[in-house]
Amino acid sequence: MKDLQKLKTEVQEDIDQLDSNELKKKYLSSDGVIREYFSKISNVDKDNRAKYGKELNSIKNLIAQSIEQSSKEIVTQRAKRVDPTAPFDSNTSKSNRPRILDLNGSSHILMQELERMLDIFQSMGFDIVESRQIDDDYHMFESLNFPKGHPARDMYDTFWTEDGFVLPAHTSTMQNRILSSSTPPISAVIPGRCFRSEATDSSHEHTFFQCEGIYVDKGISVANMIATIKEFLEAYLETDIEVKIQPAYFPFTEPDAEFTINCPFCNKEGCSTCGHTGWIELMGCGMIHPNVLKSADIDSEEFSGFAWGFGLDRLVMIRNHISDIRDLRAGNIKFLRKY
Ligand SMILES: [Zn+2]
Repeated sequence: MKDLQKLKTEVQEDIDQLDSNELKKKYLSSDGVIREYFSKISNVDKDNRAKYGKELNSIKNLIAQSIEQSSKEIVTQRAKRVDPTAPFDSNTSKSNRPRILDLNGSSHILMQELERMLDIFQSMGFDIVESRQIDDDYHMFESLNFPKGHPARDMYDTFWTEDGFVLPAHTSTMQNRILSSSTPPISAVIPGRCFRSEATDSSHEHTFFQCEGIYVDKGISVANMIATIKEFLEAYLETDIEVKIQPAYFPFTEPDAEFTINCPFCNKEGCSTCGHTGWIELMGCGMIHPNVLKSADIDSEEFSGFAWGFGLDRLVMIRNHISDIRDLRAGNIKFLRKY
């Protein structure tokens, strides 16, 4: 019994000093101290055996209780963890949390409109391919007929990484990939985020979305291009439009054009959306340059095609009467909730 007294003192000291794993291992494991003391029970004289067993059990319970207690404390500490990003005390029960956001949420207006556009293009038979947010010089310029040192490269002032990669300034970076990985007829639409080193104002942003389209087959002409773009725009803007084709210059198309439509809001009388001209320049387009087809191993004698690229933000702004492009990315809840 004296031994048990000594054991109890040792256990009490250990409870203060050891953690639960150490306590478990030292006392409660299969070769632990408690097991050892139980095996000594046959050496205890018969009169004291019951008392010895009872006392030893109570020491065992003391250790078990201490282990249980400390694991409960860990659980409580976890529950009270502080989350500095939460807009309220994250330990508050669900039913008592303040209602600070509309928890139903909704997708961003750009994504809602993009989905509408892609539905229209899909119904017209186009495949959808996503563009990249970082690319190389070959896909940004060379494969699109901008050789090194070509002055038109300056029209696409964007951001470069120190090791020579580029943040795409247009979604045309995907043209070569799509043309060289498929055989005509090819029809694809490529939405993607683009970047330009711009001074921002109500109509210019450093980051915006473009939507590229390409179509390649035998006997494709400018008339097919105009009809395709017009059909899409009438479906998207839900109104009939008039089209004006104005000359433009892009190294990767020949001939190139600026696709201009009558302002759908003022019947060509002039309003703030069209800059009081009655017409809106919507996108660059043109017949794909033979050199671009050649760089994708497509025979430009046999096949021809067209491509376009429009600023998705601009089209979304026109349809929704948004006057400042910066609103689209300002994260202003008041603005976003309108859509
Ligand atoms: Zn107008």
